[in-house]
Amino acid sequence: MMDSLEHIAQVWPSSGKVVVLTGAGISVASGIPDFRSPGGLWSRYDPMQVATADALEHNPAEVWRFLMDAVRVMTQAKPNPAHQALARLEQAGLAQAVVTQNIDGLHQRAGSRDVVEFHGSMSSFRCNDCSTPHDARIAETITTATSPWRCGCGGVVRPDIVFFGEPISLDALDKSGQLACGAELMLIVGTACEVAPASSLPLLTKQYGGKVAEINLIPSRLARLCDASIQAKAEEALPLLADMLLQRRN
Ligand code: ZN
Repeated sequence: MMDSLEHIAQVWPSSGKVVVLTGAGISVASGIPDFRSPGGLWSRYDPMQVATADALEHNPAEVWRFLMDAVRVMTQAKPNPAHQALARLEQAGLAQAVVTQNIDGLHQRAGSRDVVEFHGSMSSFRCNDCSTPHDARIAETITTATSPWRCGCGGVVRPDIVFFGEPISLDALDKSGQLACGAELMLIVGTACEVAPASSLPLLTKQYGGKVAEINLIPSRLARLCDASIQAKAEEALPLLADMLLQRRN
């Protein structure tokens, strides 16, 4: 493991122009199984029935049955050493930003400040009809008796996440695109890079002359592109890498 980490440390620019692209794998140790894995939310729910704009409109009770489950999983989760290591690197000026496909808010809870949430976040809610923001803490109190959560206007309240068939926010696309183009290194962590358009960000970094590295238990679809890589759990590899980088700088 140390050899591979050394390789990643070698391609790490001292400028700190590093963007970290994270996915489900980084939050598994926090108690959030990958939605697509056995035991994940998609093994209990059909995403097409509970996580589409159409379902919100026509079957809000079913959507909220899923959301109650998702809220419970997310509120019980805590940042793990991988999230904490990334926050340390940002604070030390050795990493610029995190672009995450996760909706769990764990990067911010660990202390990362510059976080682009590609698929939105479960930490804010709004009315699906009138867009009024609603207090996320109320989501934790919704029960089968009070579900679906409704706004004063009668519309269904929903998390600010990107449901299937909905567009990714232009803001997130714009910001992550700019970060990818300007990065001297993009580090892929805990994502197979199978879901577009997040999966195209490392390609952008390459096109603009940057390097790509990955920390993944199973090599991603972009493994061939990588200038350095390690097959390891994020919560084991990232703290060691952060120690290495911080030590080298001092
Ligand atoms: Zn409303």
